[in-house]
Amino acid sequence: MNDLYTDFDISAKVTNFCNIILDDFSFNEKIKKADKTAEINTLKVVRSMQKNRVNSTNFAASTGYGYDDGGRENLERVYADLFHSEAALVRPQITCGTHALSVALSANLLPGDELLSPVGKPYDTLEEVIGIRNSPCSLAEYGVKYRQVDLIDGIKIDFDGIKNAVSGKTKLVTIQRSKGYSSRPTLSVEKIGKIIEAVKSVKKDVIVMVDNCYGEFAETIEPSDVGADLVVGSLIKNPGGGLAPVGGYICGKKKYVDRCAYRLSAPGLGQEVGANLGILPSFYQGLFLAPTVVSSALKGSIFAAYAYDKLGFRCIPGPEESRHDVIQCIELCSEEAMIAFCKGIQSAAPVDSYVTPEPYAMPGYDCDVIMAAGTFVQGSSIELSADGPIRPPYAVYFQGGLTWPHAKLGIMLSIQKMLDAGFITL
Ligand SMILES: *Cc1c(COP(=O)(O)O)cnc(C)c1O
Repeated sequence: MNDLYTDFDISAKVTNFCNIILDDFSFNEKIKKADKTAEINTLKVVRSMQKNRVNSTNFAASTGYGYDDGGRENLERVYADLFHSEAALVRPQITCGTHALSVALSANLLPGDELLSPVGKPYDTLEEVIGIRNSPCSLAEYGVKYRQVDLIDGIKIDFDGIKNAVSGKTKLVTIQRSKGYSSRPTLSVEKIGKIIEAVKSVKKDVIVMVDNCYGEFAETIEPSDVGADLVVGSLIKNPGGGLAPVGGYICGKKKYVDRCAYRLSAPGLGQEVGANLGILPSFYQGLFLAPTVVSSALKGSIFAAYAYDKLGFRCIPGPEESRHDVIQCIELCSEEAMIAFCKGIQSAAPVDSYVTPEPYAMPGYDCDVIMAAGTFVQGSSIELSADGPIRPPYAVYFQGGLTWPHAKLGIMLSIQKMLDAGFITL
């Protein structure tokens, strides 16, 4: 096997360094935990499919208006059951995570309403959706006010501040589970439940939406199990299992999901339209695979944390910390180190392995971003990938890996490139 790694230009120094981690007891305990999580979530997914009598007619293509699309409707029932929610909207017409979140927000907020983020600044692309950064068609343009409660010292939830910020005008509270491009810890589902309890203790009928991107199946419960009214995510991340080529989902209370459907298609049409164009097999099978794909990605992140912590870099979460999403943040302290790391990830890819990632301006981001991804589905970040905005603390966000051996290869190559560029010594 070492010869095969040599063939990837991975030196004996790097393989030896990695083998020590692979033999580590506490590392292996974490790997076992990821397997357990995958087992429980697989049972949940299969049960939801069985309960809804998924059958081969559900995989048929629909065209045109997509009326009476039984496969689409059943998939939405499967998602609703899986998330223990009343309703679900699962559609290829939702183009990405940002779109799903934008639909959920604009469907449920009206002029004069207030939107509150109780855990600091939301994900970069949402700044334009909300209008924190000026953008045509932002919620701000439609008269939706925005407030946020920052984390104390950038890490701790300010429960008193949150309770004070909720007022009669607060219509919707948006909670982001994953850290996005920030250094705060990812929220556990349990912690999200505490925040929901706090906001609902002040205003019972406030709508709580959770941005669940990267969090699905990382734990055995989801935010809808702890009181979230809407749970939103992307199908080219966790729940698509690497097979869904596009799409997003919104699960939650029927009255709010209905509004999302009217916003996505048109008032009066809602969930009744939307041809599936033959995409449903990948949505069903992707969901079936998602728990094990997520566990592979989790293992990659755990391995990265053990390796880079040992190499002296700050890792969030740290190797011993609990995990609530698939993201591993590693503070590399310089642009050049970020480039070296990303080159390693890129060179492990099955697709586009020969290209060199470079920092570049991206729509929705306010600084240059570097992205390494050689994916079957464009930009799919449940596949092995790494990215990060070029700004202090020069952190890369590593995620994905459809299989654990592939995630491992990516990390090994990143270490090799860091070594070659002189950022680490072994
Ligand atoms: C990826 C992500 C989004 C946006 O998703 P896109 O599919 O890139 O539009 C929103 N929130 C979080 C936390 C994310 O990780």
